[in-house]
Amino acid sequence: MSSQPDRQTIRKCHLSFILDSPIPSSQPQPRSQPNLDIPSASTPHVVQYEYIGRRIGNGRNVLQRVEMLAANIKISSFDTHLIVCAGCNEQLSTRGHTSPYYDNCDNWNFHQRTCGKLQAWYNPSSPYKLTPEMAAKFERSRMESRDKAFAYLVLQNKIKRV
Ligand SMILES: [Zn+2]
Repeated sequence: MSSQPDRQTIRKCHLSFILDSPIPSSQPQPRSQPNLDIPSASTPHVVQYEYIGRRIGNGRNVLQRVEMLAANIKISSFDTHLIVCAGCNEQLSTRGHTSPYYDNCDNWNFHQRTCGKLQAWYNPSSPYKLTPEMAAKFERSRMESRDKAFAYLVLQNKIKRV
């Protein structure tokens, strides 16, 4: 017969919510959001890997190199000893380096600076600007390369899933 308790509970919850809220300061401060790693639409399943290979001095390990390749918007795809330019689709061999997934090699560095198509992306008057659609397509393709690289490196005992 009493409908009051429910209402009281609600009021109490509401009150405790208010009490739990941060005390407002005199200046309204933007609520700092925790820096959540929200996976992008292209990578719904985020799998974390850690490097378990031999320790390397100051250089990047192969997991870090793969991540760098996967993050480079000028690359459309890559393999152990290959980088494909997202601008002109040219395949640059990185076989000069014994380390797999090596992106800091002379021919690729030179190509990034000199590729006319890549330059055109950043030229406001160019008809070959990088569109969001192009960027998304290249990213998907890079993620495929990255997944292949991870699968290969797991087999090589260089990385493991964590
Ligand atoms: Zn190119």
